Amino acid sequence: MKKLLLLSVAFLPTTALTAPSQSPDEKVRAIAAEVSPDRMHQTVERLVGFGTRHTLSTQTDPKRGIGAAVRWAEGEMKKLGLEALQTCDTVTGRRVPTPTRVCNAVGIQRGTERPNDVVIIQGHIDSRVTDVMNATADAPGANDDGSGTAAVLEAARVLTQRKFPGTIVYATLSGEEQGLLGGKILADYAKTQGWNVVTVLNNDIIATAARPTAYAMTSMSASCRKGRVCRGRPISPRRPTASAAKTMLRRATSRAFSMASPIGSTSAST
Ligand SMILES: [Zn+2]
Repeated sequence: MKKLLLLSVAFLPTTALTAPSQSPDEKVRAIAAEVSPDRMHQTVERLVGFGTRHTLSTQTDPKRGIGAAVRWAEGEMKKLGLEALQTCDTVTGRRVPTPTRVCNAVGIQRGTERPNDVVIIQGHIDSRVTDVMNATADAPGANDDGSGTAAVLEAARVLTQRKFPGTIVYATLSGEEQGLLGGKILADYAKTQGWNVVTVLNNDIIATAARPTAYAMTSMSASCRKGRVCRGRPISPRRPTASAAKTMLRRATSRAFSMASPIGSTSAST
């Protein structure tokens, strides 16, 4: 109930101008309805196009590997008008035998009233094949986690068209398959920024195909086609992906709106 009240306050300034009959919940649903299945599919295709996004893959090739993928995601965030940057660290570990630079693409949408209160929307951009140390084989990772990365970028596209009292951070994390490395790097960054992280919405395999499809067959690695465990098994149906993204977006929007000023203020905005 408290949340509902907060939401009502958050929507006060705009409901009179746009759709007086729309409840806060309806408004959140309307925002989520702007998610485009086609756009998400295009994003997944683009991610698959990097061949592999393995954390230990090339960082210098302009078209293939994790470096190109992270730079691309950062560029997409920039295009949306976000403060885009890479948060990086050099790490070694059980699945990282030699010191390796691991970078996340991060986009920041500053809140208008309480910028220190932060909602993080994230997915991991890195991929793998069955052998987690194989950094050169094709690892399309359409479902794991192209689907989640597409959700992050689509959420950014929809939500950057509005203003929120609190800050929303969009993050495509690397190093997940090598030990949740990108998550730690982002957490460290949040600490240095002094962010009050209210919510983290993690999106990992938000859609998948139960069995190989035409799309899957064109982008799966050989090991996947042999039917072995494959993290790269791609998605095909657009609808489930978009529907999962919409659900996530509704949650994100609700949280972002609920970070409004205390009841009594009318300066919150959409
Ligand atoms: Zn995953």
